Amino acid sequence: MMCDSIQDSKQTFAENIDGDDVSIAVTDPLMGTTAVHGQTNRRPKAYAGEYIPCPWDAITSPLLRYNTACLVPNDYPALSSDRYSYQSLLLDDLYPIESALGVCYVVIYSEDHEKHWLTLSKEERENVVHLWAESTRMIRKNKKLRYTHIFENDGPINTMTHPHGQQYAFVSVPLYIQDELRRCMLFYKYRKQNLFQKIQEVEMRNKKRIIIENESWFAYAPPGARWPFQVRILPKRSVLWLDMLTDRELSDLAESLTMIRHVYARYFSHSYRPTIMMNIFQSPCDRSYLKYQRYYRMRVEFFVTALSSNAEKLMFSIENSTGYSLYSQTPEETASILRSLLMKREVTENTNRNKLYKKCCTKEEYYEK
Ligand SMILES: [Zn+2]
Repeated sequence: MMCDSIQDSKQTFAENIDGDDVSIAVTDPLMGTTAVHGQTNRRPKAYAGEYIPCPWDAITSPLLRYNTACLVPNDYPALSSDRYSYQSLLLDDLYPIESALGVCYVVIYSEDHEKHWLTLSKEERENVVHLWAESTRMIRKNKKLRYTHIFENDGPINTMTHPHGQQYAFVSVPLYIQDELRRCMLFYKYRKQNLFQKIQEVEMRNKKRIIIENESWFAYAPPGARWPFQVRILPKRSVLWLDMLTDRELSDLAESLTMIRHVYARYFSHSYRPTIMMNIFQSPCDRSYLKYQRYYRMRVEFFVTALSSNAEKLMFSIENSTGYSLYSQTPEETASILRSLLMKREVTENTNRNKLYKKCCTKEEYYEK
Protein backbone atom coordinates (compact mmCIF):
# COMPACT_ATOMS: atom_id res chain seq x y z
CA MET A 1 0.00 0.00 0.00
CA MET A 2 1.31 3.44 -0.90
CA CYS A 3 0.50 6.81 0.62
CA ASP A 4 0.99 10.31 -0.74
CA SER A 5 2.38 12.04 2.31
CA ILE A 6 3.09 11.46 5.96
CA GLN A 7 -0.03 13.44 6.84
CA ASP A 8 -2.07 11.25 4.46
CA SER A 9 -0.54 8.18 6.07
CA LYS A 10 -1.57 9.39 9.50
CA GLN A 11 -5.08 9.99 8.23
CA THR A 12 -5.17 6.57 6.56
CA PHE A 13 -4.09 5.00 9.83
CA ALA A 14 -6.65 7.03 11.76
CA GLU A 15 -9.55 6.18 9.41
CA ASN A 16 -8.74 2.51 9.59
CA ILE A 17 -8.55 2.37 13.31
CA ASP A 18 -11.19 4.89 14.31
CA GLY A 19 -9.04 7.45 16.08
CA ASP A 20 -6.84 10.41 15.25
CA ASP A 21 -4.34 10.10 18.10
CA VAL A 22 -2.33 7.44 16.34
CA SER A 23 1.48 7.79 16.21
CA ILE A 24 3.50 6.68 13.22
CA ALA A 25 7.19 5.91 12.85
CA VAL A 26 8.96 6.71 9.56
CA THR A 27 12.45 5.43 8.78
CA ASP A 28 15.12 7.16 6.65
CA PRO A 29 16.46 4.42 4.35
CA LEU A 30 19.81 6.24 4.05
CA MET A 31 20.81 6.90 7.66
CA GLY A 32 18.54 4.32 9.30
CA THR A 33 17.10 6.89 11.70
CA THR A 34 13.43 6.77 12.67
CA ALA A 35 11.16 9.75 13.39
CA VAL A 36 7.99 9.27 15.44
CA HIS A 37 5.08 11.59 14.68
CA GLY A 38 2.79 11.49 17.69
CA GLN A 39 0.87 13.84 19.93
CA THR A 40 3.90 15.18 21.78
CA ASN A 41 3.81 18.56 20.06
CA ARG A 42 0.20 19.16 21.05
CA ARG A 43 1.17 19.49 24.69
CA PRO A 44 0.96 22.91 26.35
CA LYS A 45 4.27 24.76 26.33
CA ALA A 46 5.45 27.61 28.52
CA TYR A 47 8.10 29.86 27.10
CA ALA A 48 9.96 32.38 29.27
CA GLY A 49 7.53 34.48 31.25
CA GLU A 50 4.45 32.42 30.39
CA TYR A 51 2.21 30.40 32.68
CA ILE A 52 1.33 26.80 32.02
CA PRO A 53 -1.37 24.73 33.70
CA CYS A 54 0.05 22.06 35.99
CA PRO A 55 -2.10 18.92 36.18
CA TRP A 56 0.23 17.19 38.66
CA ASP A 57 -0.21 19.08 41.93
CA ALA A 58 -2.81 16.70 43.42
CA ILE A 59 -2.96 13.34 41.65
CA THR A 60 -6.01 11.39 42.86
CA SER A 61 -5.91 8.11 40.93
CA PRO A 62 -2.40 7.25 39.78
CA LEU A 63 -1.57 4.02 37.95
CA LEU A 64 0.98 3.26 40.67
CA ARG A 65 1.91 4.97 43.90
CA TYR A 66 4.87 4.55 46.25
CA ASN A 67 4.20 6.87 49.19
CA THR A 68 4.94 10.38 47.84
CA ALA A 69 5.82 9.26 44.29
CA CYS A 70 3.33 8.20 41.64
CA LEU A 71 3.04 7.10 38.02
CA VAL A 72 0.42 8.61 35.69
CA PRO A 73 -0.28 8.27 31.95
CA ASN A 74 1.31 10.91 29.72
CA ASP A 75 -1.61 12.93 28.30
CA TYR A 76 0.38 13.79 25.17
CA PRO A 77 2.13 10.52 24.39
CA ALA A 78 4.73 10.15 21.64
CA LEU A 79 3.68 6.52 21.21
CA SER A 80 0.18 5.07 20.72
CA SER A 81 -1.41 2.14 22.47
CA ASP A 82 -1.50 -1.27 20.82
CA ARG A 83 -5.15 -0.94 19.87
CA TYR A 84 -3.77 1.24 17.07
CA SER A 85 -1.61 -1.56 15.74
CA TYR A 86 -1.47 -1.36 11.98
CA GLN A 87 0.50 -3.16 9.31
CA SER A 88 3.72 -1.67 7.96
CA LEU A 89 3.55 0.14 4.64
CA LEU A 90 5.76 2.17 2.35
CA LEU A 91 5.34 5.90 1.95
CA ASP A 92 5.91 6.83 -1.73
CA ASP A 93 7.00 3.24 -2.29
CA LEU A 94 10.22 4.05 -0.39
CA TYR A 95 9.98 5.08 3.27
CA PRO A 96 8.99 2.37 5.76
CA ILE A 97 6.11 3.50 7.95
CA GLU A 98 4.54 1.66 10.86
CA SER A 99 2.49 2.36 13.96
CA ALA A 100 4.71 3.73 16.74
CA LEU A 101 3.43 1.54 19.52
CA GLY A 102 4.09 1.73 23.22
CA VAL A 103 3.11 3.45 26.44
CA CYS A 104 4.31 6.81 27.80
CA TYR A 105 4.11 7.55 31.52
CA VAL A 106 4.98 10.52 33.72
CA VAL A 107 6.74 9.79 37.01
CA ILE A 108 5.67 12.42 39.56
CA TYR A 109 8.37 12.80 42.24
CA SER A 110 6.28 14.80 44.74
CA GLU A 111 3.01 16.68 45.06
CA ASP A 112 5.03 19.78 45.89
CA HIS A 113 5.28 21.87 42.73
CA GLU A 114 8.23 23.85 44.06
CA LYS A 115 10.55 20.91 44.53
CA HIS A 116 13.39 19.49 42.47
CA TRP A 117 15.26 16.18 42.77
CA LEU A 118 17.91 17.96 44.84
CA THR A 119 15.43 19.55 47.24
CA LEU A 120 13.40 16.37 47.84
CA SER A 121 14.08 14.65 51.17
CA LYS A 122 16.15 11.46 51.22
CA GLU A 123 12.95 9.50 51.86
CA GLU A 124 11.13 11.17 48.93
CA ARG A 125 14.00 10.33 46.57
CA GLU A 126 13.97 6.73 47.74
CA ASN A 127 10.21 6.61 47.08
CA VAL A 128 10.88 7.61 43.45
CA VAL A 129 13.52 4.90 43.04
CA HIS A 130 11.16 2.29 44.55
CA LEU A 131 8.41 3.46 42.19
CA TRP A 132 10.76 2.98 39.18
CA ALA A 133 11.32 -0.60 40.34
CA GLU A 134 7.54 -1.16 40.67
CA SER A 135 6.76 0.34 37.26
CA THR A 136 9.51 -1.75 35.66
CA ARG A 137 8.03 -4.87 37.27
CA MET A 138 4.58 -3.91 35.92
CA ILE A 139 5.89 -3.34 32.38
CA ARG A 140 7.91 -6.56 32.39
CA LYS A 141 4.71 -8.49 33.13
CA ASN A 142 3.13 -7.18 29.91
CA LYS A 143 4.20 -9.64 27.21
CA LYS A 144 3.64 -7.10 24.42
CA LEU A 145 6.24 -4.68 25.77
CA ARG A 146 9.89 -5.39 24.95
CA TYR A 147 11.83 -2.47 26.40
CA THR A 148 11.41 0.30 28.95
CA HIS A 149 13.39 3.52 29.38
CA ILE A 150 13.22 5.81 32.42
CA PHE A 151 14.56 9.35 32.06
CA GLU A 152 14.48 12.96 33.18
CA ASN A 153 15.40 16.09 31.22
CA ASP A 154 16.35 18.84 33.65
CA GLY A 155 17.23 22.28 32.36
CA PRO A 156 16.14 25.77 31.42
CA ILE A 157 14.17 24.57 28.38
CA ASN A 158 11.83 22.37 30.43
CA THR A 159 8.21 23.28 29.77
CA MET A 160 6.73 21.54 32.83
CA THR A 161 8.49 22.60 36.01
CA HIS A 162 6.77 20.20 38.45
CA PRO A 163 9.39 17.67 39.72
CA HIS A 164 8.95 14.72 37.39
CA GLY A 165 10.61 12.28 35.05
CA GLN A 166 9.20 9.98 32.39
CA GLN A 167 9.04 6.33 31.48
CA TYR A 168 8.49 4.91 27.99
CA ALA A 169 7.64 1.28 27.23
CA PHE A 170 8.24 0.10 23.64
CA VAL A 171 6.93 -2.93 21.77
CA SER A 172 10.37 -3.39 20.19
CA VAL A 173 13.96 -2.77 21.30
CA PRO A 174 15.10 0.70 20.13
CA LEU A 175 17.92 1.03 17.61
CA TYR A 176 20.71 2.26 19.94
CA ILE A 177 19.89 -0.44 22.48
CA GLN A 178 20.01 -3.13 19.77
CA ASP A 179 23.43 -1.80 18.75
CA GLU A 180 24.88 -1.93 22.26
CA LEU A 181 23.40 -5.36 22.94
CA ARG A 182 25.17 -6.58 19.80
CA ARG A 183 28.47 -5.12 21.01
CA CYS A 184 28.04 -6.72 24.46
CA MET A 185 27.20 -10.06 22.85
CA LEU A 186 30.32 -9.89 20.65
CA PHE A 187 32.49 -8.95 23.65
CA TYR A 188 31.16 -11.99 25.49
CA LYS A 189 31.72 -14.20 22.45
CA TYR A 190 35.36 -13.16 21.90
CA ARG A 191 36.53 -12.28 25.42
CA LYS A 192 34.41 -14.83 27.33
CA GLN A 193 33.44 -12.16 29.86
CA ASN A 194 30.57 -9.79 30.60
CA LEU A 195 31.63 -6.34 29.32
CA PHE A 196 30.18 -4.66 32.45
CA GLN A 197 32.22 -6.95 34.71
CA LYS A 198 35.34 -6.12 32.72
CA ILE A 199 34.64 -2.36 32.97
CA GLN A 200 34.14 -2.72 36.72
CA GLU A 201 37.48 -4.51 37.12
CA VAL A 202 39.34 -1.98 34.96
CA GLU A 203 37.82 1.14 36.50
CA MET A 204 38.06 -0.02 40.12
CA ARG A 205 41.75 -0.88 39.56
CA ASN A 206 42.58 2.33 37.67
CA LYS A 207 40.59 4.65 40.03
CA LYS A 208 41.40 7.84 38.04
CA ARG A 209 38.00 8.00 36.34
CA ILE A 210 35.95 7.04 39.41
CA ILE A 211 33.85 9.90 40.80
CA ILE A 212 31.90 8.22 43.61
CA GLU A 213 31.50 4.74 45.01
CA ASN A 214 29.29 3.09 47.64
CA GLU A 215 28.59 -0.50 48.61
CA SER A 216 26.32 -1.18 45.61
CA TRP A 217 27.29 1.27 42.83
CA PHE A 218 30.17 3.22 41.33
CA ALA A 219 30.12 6.25 39.01
CA TYR A 220 32.86 7.03 36.51
CA ALA A 221 33.63 9.25 33.52
CA PRO A 222 33.64 6.81 30.58
CA PRO A 223 36.46 7.03 27.98
CA GLY A 224 35.11 7.66 24.47
CA ALA A 225 31.92 9.24 25.85
CA ARG A 226 29.64 10.99 23.41
CA TRP A 227 28.85 13.88 25.77
CA PRO A 228 31.29 16.08 27.68
CA PHE A 229 30.72 15.56 31.42
CA GLN A 230 28.98 12.25 30.73
CA VAL A 231 28.82 10.14 33.89
CA ARG A 232 27.93 6.44 34.01
CA ILE A 233 26.69 4.72 37.16
CA LEU A 234 27.06 0.93 37.23
CA PRO A 235 25.77 -1.61 39.75
CA LYS A 236 28.52 -3.70 41.33
CA ARG A 237 26.31 -6.76 41.15
CA SER A 238 25.08 -8.24 37.88
CA VAL A 239 21.53 -6.84 37.68
CA LEU A 240 19.36 -6.49 34.56
CA TRP A 241 16.33 -4.60 35.86
CA LEU A 242 15.51 -2.18 38.69
CA ASP A 243 13.06 -4.62 40.22
CA MET A 244 15.93 -7.07 40.81
CA LEU A 245 17.64 -4.62 43.17
CA THR A 246 17.50 -5.05 46.95
CA ASP A 247 16.18 -2.25 49.20
CA ARG A 248 19.76 -1.43 50.11
CA GLU A 249 20.79 -1.21 46.44
CA LEU A 250 17.79 1.03 45.64
CA SER A 251 18.69 3.31 48.53
CA ASP A 252 22.35 3.41 47.41
CA LEU A 253 21.18 4.21 43.86
CA ALA A 254 19.15 7.19 45.09
CA GLU A 255 22.22 8.42 46.98
CA SER A 256 24.50 8.00 43.93
CA LEU A 257 22.10 9.90 41.63
CA THR A 258 21.85 12.70 44.18
CA MET A 259 25.62 13.04 44.59
CA ILE A 260 26.16 13.28 40.83
CA ARG A 261 23.37 15.81 40.46
CA HIS A 262 24.85 17.84 43.30
CA VAL A 263 28.26 18.05 41.66
CA TYR A 264 26.66 19.10 38.37
CA ALA A 265 24.68 21.81 40.23
CA ARG A 266 27.91 23.02 41.83
CA TYR A 267 29.89 23.01 38.61
CA PHE A 268 27.23 24.58 36.38
CA SER A 269 26.42 27.34 38.85
CA HIS A 270 27.04 30.17 36.37
CA SER A 271 24.32 31.83 34.30
CA TYR A 272 24.52 29.32 31.47
CA ARG A 273 22.75 26.18 32.66
CA PRO A 274 22.95 23.09 30.47
CA THR A 275 20.23 20.48 30.18
CA ILE A 276 21.06 17.43 32.28
CA MET A 277 19.63 14.18 30.91
CA MET A 278 19.33 11.28 33.33
CA ASN A 279 18.76 7.95 31.58
CA ILE A 280 18.18 4.53 33.11
CA PHE A 281 19.10 1.74 30.72
CA GLN A 282 17.78 -1.73 31.51
CA SER A 283 17.81 -5.07 29.76
CA PRO A 284 15.04 -5.81 27.24
CA CYS A 285 11.88 -7.01 29.01
CA ASP A 286 11.62 -10.41 27.36
CA ARG A 287 12.11 -13.64 29.24
CA SER A 288 15.67 -14.36 28.03
CA TYR A 289 17.02 -13.76 31.52
CA LEU A 290 19.92 -16.19 31.28
CA LYS A 291 21.02 -14.88 27.88
CA TYR A 292 21.19 -11.22 28.99
CA GLN A 293 22.67 -12.14 32.36
CA ARG A 294 25.74 -13.44 30.52
CA TYR A 295 26.57 -10.23 28.67
CA TYR A 296 24.50 -7.27 29.89
CA ARG A 297 23.60 -5.17 32.98
CA MET A 298 21.38 -2.22 33.84
CA ARG A 299 22.95 1.23 34.35
CA VAL A 300 22.37 4.99 34.60
CA GLU A 301 23.89 7.55 32.21
CA PHE A 302 23.97 11.30 32.68
CA PHE A 303 24.38 13.36 29.49
CA VAL A 304 25.10 17.09 29.78
CA THR A 305 24.79 19.61 26.96
CA ALA A 306 27.82 21.71 27.89
CA LEU A 307 31.54 21.48 27.46
CA SER A 308 32.66 23.39 30.55
CA SER A 309 31.60 26.29 32.71
CA ASN A 310 32.97 28.82 30.24
CA ALA A 311 32.41 27.10 26.90
CA GLU A 312 28.95 26.31 25.68
CA LYS A 313 28.84 23.56 23.14
CA LEU A 314 26.14 21.19 22.06
CA MET A 315 26.24 18.44 19.50
CA PHE A 316 27.19 20.15 16.28
CA SER A 317 28.21 19.13 12.74
CA ILE A 318 31.07 16.72 13.23
CA GLU A 319 29.45 15.08 16.26
CA ASN A 320 26.16 14.56 14.45
CA SER A 321 27.63 13.58 11.08
CA THR A 322 30.44 11.27 12.01
CA GLY A 323 30.03 10.04 15.58
CA TYR A 324 33.33 11.68 16.65
CA SER A 325 32.84 13.95 19.67
CA LEU A 326 35.47 16.68 19.72
CA TYR A 327 36.48 18.11 23.09
CA SER A 328 39.86 18.30 24.71
CA GLN A 329 38.92 17.43 28.31
CA THR A 330 39.82 13.81 29.08
CA PRO A 331 37.63 11.51 31.23
CA GLU A 332 40.36 11.62 33.91
CA GLU A 333 40.06 15.43 34.00
CA THR A 334 36.25 15.27 34.06
CA ALA A 335 36.36 12.85 36.99
CA SER A 336 38.91 14.99 38.80
CA ILE A 337 36.79 18.16 38.38
CA LEU A 338 33.62 16.44 39.60
CA ARG A 339 35.38 14.68 42.52
CA SER A 340 36.80 18.00 43.71
CA LEU A 341 33.24 19.33 44.06
CA LEU A 342 31.93 16.46 46.18
CA MET A 343 32.84 17.98 49.51
CA LYS A 344 31.64 21.52 48.84
CA ARG A 345 28.58 22.90 50.57
CA GLU A 346 25.25 22.30 48.88
CA VAL A 347 24.33 25.01 46.40
CA THR A 348 20.58 24.90 46.78
CA GLU A 349 19.94 28.30 45.21
CA ASN A 350 20.87 26.82 41.83
CA THR A 351 18.26 24.13 42.24
CA ASN A 352 15.41 26.49 42.98
CA ARG A 353 13.59 26.28 39.71
CA ASN A 354 11.37 29.27 40.34
CA LYS A 355 14.33 31.58 40.01
CA LEU A 356 14.54 30.35 36.43
CA TYR A 357 11.01 29.44 35.54
CA LYS A 358 7.63 30.97 36.10
CA LYS A 359 5.21 29.07 38.30
CA CYS A 360 2.54 26.87 36.81
CA CYS A 361 -1.00 27.77 37.70
CA THR A 362 -2.88 25.62 40.21
CA LYS A 363 -5.00 22.60 39.35
CA GLU A 364 -8.16 24.61 40.08
CA GLU A 365 -7.11 27.33 37.66
CA TYR A 366 -6.33 24.62 35.10
CA TYR A 367 -9.83 23.15 35.21
CA GLU A 368 -11.53 26.55 35.16
CA LYS A 369 -10.12 27.27 31.73
ZN1 LIG B 1 2.80 21.27 39.62
